[in-house]
Amino acid sequence: MAWFSKKPRISTEAEQPSESRPSRMEGLWAKCESCDEIIYRQDLEKNWMVCPHCEHHHAWPARARLAGLLDPDSFEEFDKELEPQDPLGFSDSKKYKDRLKSTRKNLGENDAFISGVGRIEGHQVSVGAFVFEFMGGSMGSVVGEKVARVFERAHDLKCSALVFSASGGARMQEGIFSLMQMAKTSAAIARFRTGTRPYISVLLNPTTGGVAASFSWLGDVILAEPKALIGFAGPRVIEQTIRQKLPEGFQRSEFLLDHGMIDSIVHRKELRTKLGQILGLLG
Ligand SMILES: [Zn+2]
Repeated sequence: MAWFSKKPRISTEAEQPSESRPSRMEGLWAKCESCDEIIYRQDLEKNWMVCPHCEHHHAWPARARLAGLLDPDSFEEFDKELEPQDPLGFSDSKKYKDRLKSTRKNLGENDAFISGVGRIEGHQVSVGAFVFEFMGGSMGSVVGEKVARVFERAHDLKCSALVFSASGGARMQEGIFSLMQMAKTSAAIARFRTGTRPYISVLLNPTTGGVAASFSWLGDVILAEPKALIGFAGPRVIEQTIRQKLPEGFQRSEFLLDHGMIDSIVHRKELRTKLGQILGLLG
């Protein structure tokens, strides 16, 4: 029976690598995740990925964010050459090595964090931003090292530190090496604190897991974007563990502000001005 050996003419979804699957934010038109309005993608990009109809803050790529918030041409990137290794030879549905290779090819980034030195309204900052599209912004040994160096650089230059977090947490594929980064980054902040400059942490949607449980929540000033999901374990895991329904808006920025966990919620369009004010007062 020849047709037994025939290959299917269409590939199944499972065969398609998740890194290349199109999202509803790709293409010429985009659909707002909140109000379902169809928006011309260029308009959305010009509006810093904020929906012009309902003000929903869509994911804003790290490089566009740094270009939009820092003074023009002030950003100098560091540690771009650092590349992740595969110390455990890890493999799940795909080899970690292959996953890294395809993600790096698709995004043109070596790992999930971009860092360097720049200026905001003239104030020098050692800055870093997560690339959430890179394996959910997960923190492995390279991300942890780059985060630690943000604080080391700020300490050496005697300038403020600024980190934009958007992460699913520790990178499971690196096991204990990724969990170690929580301690390493926290220790780097402790050393940075022997100086007098502030660390401003900006929490984006989502900031969870080991990233939320370490340097992201150690800011001297903690800001968040509207309606960002911020917490250690996700709401579904907590509900299943405590067998109780969680309150409306649990782990969203507004809920956290009401409960004293963050200092302020800042609209993306006002963030540059707000950062400039804080750096002017504290930096
Ligand atoms: Zn909308």
